[in-house]
Amino acid sequence: MLKHKTVLTFALALLLAGCAGVRPPSPDSRPTENVSVTFLDVGQADATLIRTPEGETVLIDTGQNGRTAALLRKLGIRRIDLLILTHAHADHTGGVESILESFPVNEIWYSGLDYKAKLRRLLERNGGLQKVSAGFEKRFAKLILTVLHPQAKPLRNSVNNRSVVVKAVYGSASYLFPGDCELECWDQLFKFHRAELRADVLKAAHHGSGNGTSSGVLINVRPATIVVSCGRGNDYGHPHSIVLRLVDRLGAQLLRTDLQGTIECAGARCAPVAEAALSEISGR
Ligand SMILES: [Zn+2]
Repeated sequence: MLKHKTVLTFALALLLAGCAGVRPPSPDSRPTENVSVTFLDVGQADATLIRTPEGETVLIDTGQNGRTAALLRKLGIRRIDLLILTHAHADHTGGVESILESFPVNEIWYSGLDYKAKLRRLLERNGGLQKVSAGFEKRFAKLILTVLHPQAKPLRNSVNNRSVVVKAVYGSASYLFPGDCELECWDQLFKFHRAELRADVLKAAHHGSGNGTSSGVLINVRPATIVVSCGRGNDYGHPHSIVLRLVDRLGAQLLRTDLQGTIECAGARCAPVAEAALSEISGR
């Protein structure tokens, strides 16, 4: 009976995926072979989920509201091993409260910079709060996360330029998550971590803004896929036409949450996921 139901669920998932022209997500919250990286469609904001075949879950940023927790529930997430907050802006931390209310969170990384007292108190209530800077590293069973920015003596000029920048490596697949890093932040990355910037998948810094991606960024990271997390028809004009031209010239795959919704990478292969398929498959 159970087997029957599983086959039916798969058939439905394939049908839905065929209709929408997209690949369905894994029916289990745990990927079976490759690491899975999901760029959640949270509007003009960032929230990225990493899941490993070993069952570990890492969330990078929380979006701007409760939508992120709702999407994680749809994906069947029950706990978060590590929450990384790139910086204190509301489009990255606005969903913190609902995430902490909805899931046990084992550990939280943040820069310790620019956080208002109310948000800081909320984070401090979680026993696993950890201030991180460049050089900080965590190894799960096979997933390795390395902090490349900010330096111990951080830039003074803007909150975005003090973003926590994380490189993730799982087997042969690599990802770079630069938060809202702007060009001054990238200059420091080129200076101190140039050799570590190379990644298969790059989340476009600062939602595809012209100050988050330059030809120098693309030359150093050399991504096969670039994912832009931004809101449909946003007021900022993200992603910027200059960035689109640079990506086009590079010949990389461009995926956008504003146009394609949630994006999922299995290893280094990335494609959109239909939200309808997420609900049907997880049955939640
Ligand atoms: Zn942002």
